Amino acid sequence: MMEEKKRVKIKELLLNGQVGSDVLAKGWVRTRRGNKSVAFIALNDGSTINNIQVVVDVQNFDENLLKDINTGACIGVNGKLVESPGSGQRVEIQVASIELYGAADATTYPLQKKGHSMEFLREIAHLRPRTNTFGAVLRIRHAMAYAIHKYFNDKGFYYIHTPIITASDAEGAGAMFKVTTLDVNALPRTEDGKIDWSEDFFGKEANLTVSGQLEGELAAMALSEIYTFGPTFRAENSNTPRHLAEFWMIEPEMAFYDIKDNMDLAEDFLKYLIRYALDNCMDDLDFLNKMYDNELIDRLKFVIENKFERLAYTKAIDILEKVDQKWEFPVFWGADLQAEHERYLVEKHFKKPVILTDYPKEIKAFYMKQNDDGKTVRAMDVLFPKIGEIIGGSQREEVYEKLLGKIAEMHIPEKDMWWYLDTRKFGTAPHSGFGLGFERLLLFVTGMSNIRDVIPFPRSPKNCEF
Ligand code: ATP
Ligand code: MN
Repeated sequence: MMEEKKRVKIKELLLNGQVGSDVLAKGWVRTRRGNKSVAFIALNDGSTINNIQVVVDVQNFDENLLKDINTGACIGVNGKLVESPGSGQRVEIQVASIELYGAADATTYPLQKKGHSMEFLREIAHLRPRTNTFGAVLRIRHAMAYAIHKYFNDKGFYYIHTPIITASDAEGAGAMFKVTTLDVNALPRTEDGKIDWSEDFFGKEANLTVSGQLEGELAAMALSEIYTFGPTFRAENSNTPRHLAEFWMIEPEMAFYDIKDNMDLAEDFLKYLIRYALDNCMDDLDFLNKMYDNELIDRLKFVIENKFERLAYTKAIDILEKVDQKWEFPVFWGADLQAEHERYLVEKHFKKPVILTDYPKEIKAFYMKQNDDGKTVRAMDVLFPKIGEIIGGSQREEVYEKLLGKIAEMHIPEKDMWWYLDTRKFGTAPHSGFGLGFERLLLFVTGMSNIRDVIPFPRSPKNCEF
């Protein structure tokens, strides 16, 4: 009996497969065309956006087998790798035998035809990884996750796993999802009629985390430079192309960094990631550039070649107030900037990424370091073309009394924050950090226009099917 050959991935065959060798490839049929005597199958196994062409001499095969080999079917093909006379590929497979693993009925398979809308594909999120577009997005997503760990590891940062369930509701970064094992139809009540959370699993109210920062700070106060990279959850009802209810965030936190060190790190980090994509994901980027956004690759190159503009919030307001344009949200000192303002600064005014600093304290979180002017805090937001805010960060308030004052001012229960305050009580240090939304980064790198199309299974209001 012949020993079964080892399957080789299509990416490897196309790149290094030896002409004349016997090969075994497995994958899903993208298209099949041809005539009575010869069939051409485009086969894809997800290892690359490129298909391998499989050539079948029809007369040598059972009609019943061939009729099932259409778009969506999964097959294994055994044959000889030969030079491809057609354009666009080095090699193709001249088939000796075919095994059908799974047919896909042509009348019901939803991806039978090409060119579906992004909206339709969201409704079949269980199948959309099989499209060229989502294959490309998912490979780039993987590459970016890897590059993030590589970047920090090479710099000596430690990866910290912060909790996903938390009892602190203090971050103020957004509305939270409650975690409970109580019977919602029969909630225990205290004497004054309030829900008795002491009966719940943790003996107190618990939520899904909106950020790993506070716990990240605890680790930075021991390991100097750390980062978190995990899922975060926000129950805000914002139905925008830039918000998800469940998204991934990268949060480095560094002892002994001031706001300038923080900005330098953020800029270097983003440029590294974009360069990594250009160096390692070019096949997929070429595809996305061609199909969706023909300025994508130019935009990526532009960002790594130019220094980000850095300026204070107050100066940005000056610029925006002089603009002759009708804003949906009014511009004035003290206003929280909206995507329309952020994108104006980036796309129209400076025409490059912008880092805004020193925001009014009223619109930023309690832990940001207070400036001497008494009005602003040492915040920094990195603003990108087409996206708006991609990173939010700050130098942290490290002075115990000032932090305590801020907690009181903002009515944050001190009893929930004792562990956080302890870092300022014992061996406090100047420190800084930021949060990069992973899907916002992917929006930028892939050129996709809706954040729901850069995560395998998006969670957004009224959307939790898959
Ligand atoms: P925005 O003002 O855009 O809603 P934010 O200021 O609430 O964002 P931060 O709390 O600063 O966001 O979170 C840090 C980063 O996480 C943001 O810069 C952004 O990249 C990302 N991010 C925040 N909210 C979401 C969301 N709902 N979906 C996806 N990414 C998000
Ligand atoms: Mn922010």
